[in-house]
Amino acid sequence: MMSRTKSEQLFATALRYIPGGVNSPVRAFLAVGGQPFFVDKAKGARIWDVDGNEYVDYVGTWGPAILGHAHPRIIKAVQSAAANGTSFGIPNPFEVTMARLICSLVPSVQKVRMCNSGTESTMSAIRLARGFTKRDKIIKFDGCYHGHADSLLVKAGSGALSFGHPDSAGVPAAFTEHTIVLPFNEPAAVTAAFKANPGRIAGIIIEPVPGNAGLYLPKPGYLEFLREIAKSNDALLIFDEVMTGFRLARGGAQERFGITPDLTCFGKVIGGGLPVGAFGGRAEIMDCLAPLGPVYQAGTLSGNPIAMAAGIAALEELAATDAYAKLEQLGQALESGLKHAASAAGIPVQFNRCGSMFCAYFSGEPVHNLADAMKSDRERFKRYFHGMLNQGFYLAPSQFEAGFLSTAHTETDIEKTVQAVRKVLRQLG
Ligand SMILES: *Cc1c(COP(=O)(O)O)cnc(C)c1O
Repeated sequence: MMSRTKSEQLFATALRYIPGGVNSPVRAFLAVGGQPFFVDKAKGARIWDVDGNEYVDYVGTWGPAILGHAHPRIIKAVQSAAANGTSFGIPNPFEVTMARLICSLVPSVQKVRMCNSGTESTMSAIRLARGFTKRDKIIKFDGCYHGHADSLLVKAGSGALSFGHPDSAGVPAAFTEHTIVLPFNEPAAVTAAFKANPGRIAGIIIEPVPGNAGLYLPKPGYLEFLREIAKSNDALLIFDEVMTGFRLARGGAQERFGITPDLTCFGKVIGGGLPVGAFGGRAEIMDCLAPLGPVYQAGTLSGNPIAMAAGIAALEELAATDAYAKLEQLGQALESGLKHAASAAGIPVQFNRCGSMFCAYFSGEPVHNLADAMKSDRERFKRYFHGMLNQGFYLAPSQFEAGFLSTAHTETDIEKTVQAVRKVLRQLG
């Protein structure tokens, strides 16, 4: 067993001063039991905790670390930007470079506004869709996470067409009454919602490849169907690519699946590890934003020079290298290794993968949506998680989170991971 004494001491102090000891709930390890470790440093595909334990990292700060941790190009960009001042609150050249870069990599984006988190990007995109269409209702899907803005913290009601319910205390029901929550991968539910709300739906917001309830993929034709039904109802299709953007391809999930959304939300990879979000889309829609148009949106630190420099370095590095081919190869190796390990151990596992995102559900049935995901064996996952952690492999501390590969992972890392999985699954038996 690894010693985690220093982490335990830090957590005890953290619990006294920070609610739950953490600044974002999943970090508390509630879904797997035990306590989080505290990170001392990270480099490439590895992190070291304050007790000196080393882990191969498959969380990658929940997606941003696609080039591995402390990538030299990003560190250099951050250092040189910081030397010139940390924030100006008036335009800086990095903002222009970043906007041009995003528009060139993601053709559906003609104009883009930077903000500071994924939550801000989806919240603002929803407001913009409502302002542009002059309609109130939004369709979202059960199991898709779009950050913690009030109107998006909604879970499905009892019937498919009923209003969603707040998914958090402190969100008035009135704030969610315009959010229609539907099951993912079921076209008929969307058709029925449009029929029941003629001329009232501003848009559909979706994670094109949902990665916040584990990972599952859109069925063939599903995204095309959503594109078409939004268009024929004069509603906007909003792709929340906070997780998939610049990860599933240079141009995100929309490039991979060949779909053109009206608006796209970004975060995670786009900041190179700093707090950044962005949303963009067709110019006629984006021009409804203040100061040009009536939809208000703002941010004191938006377009921050250090954050822009880090994000630009990450996107340029990704665009200049064969990163996506490498990520695909690593993903394939991990997928075949884990599938073999699971069948050798006789444990039912659904291994879902899209490029460098993956999830192993402990379930005997295919997972296409949240209801399927909920059938997985969470007790088994807990033991698997801790087994892997004690072998030096850090997976997301919940059955309902995706894993992430980076270009810093190697074939050898994957082989060692698969060996550890074999051992841990055999012990689970
Ligand atoms: C992480 C995430 C968000 C929220 O981003 P934050 O930066 O955590 O606010 C929104 N949408 C998706 C799809 C995400 O994965």
